[in-house]
Amino acid sequence: MQALVEDFFRLEPGLLELEREVDAARDEGHSSWFCSNYLWLPVNTRLRMLVGVGRLPRPGDEAHPELFDSRSYELLFTHLSQRLPPCRACGCARFLALREAGA
Ligand SMILES: [Zn+2]
Repeated sequence: MQALVEDFFRLEPGLLELEREVDAARDEGHSSWFCSNYLWLPVNTRLRMLVGVGRLPRPGDEAHPELFDSRSYELLFTHLSQRLPPCRACGCARFLALREAGA
């Protein structure tokens, strides 16, 4: 059975810290742009060390091979990254527009 997001938060408390961090992110509108990916990159670097093939092994991990599964990483990646505010007028949006225009 596929483990749920809540199971991972119980198994790896470090994830709570990442969730608090993404939930605290705000687009205050003070600058002319906001980039979700810019905030996401350092969070993702730490996520890779907590869940998935890049996890640094800890005592007791033998009982939870799902912590080393790349599908678990993808599940947490989606859960955490979609909690960030969306990009606004940043390079990502321009890149996406160019790509959709077929440039
Ligand atoms: Zn962006």
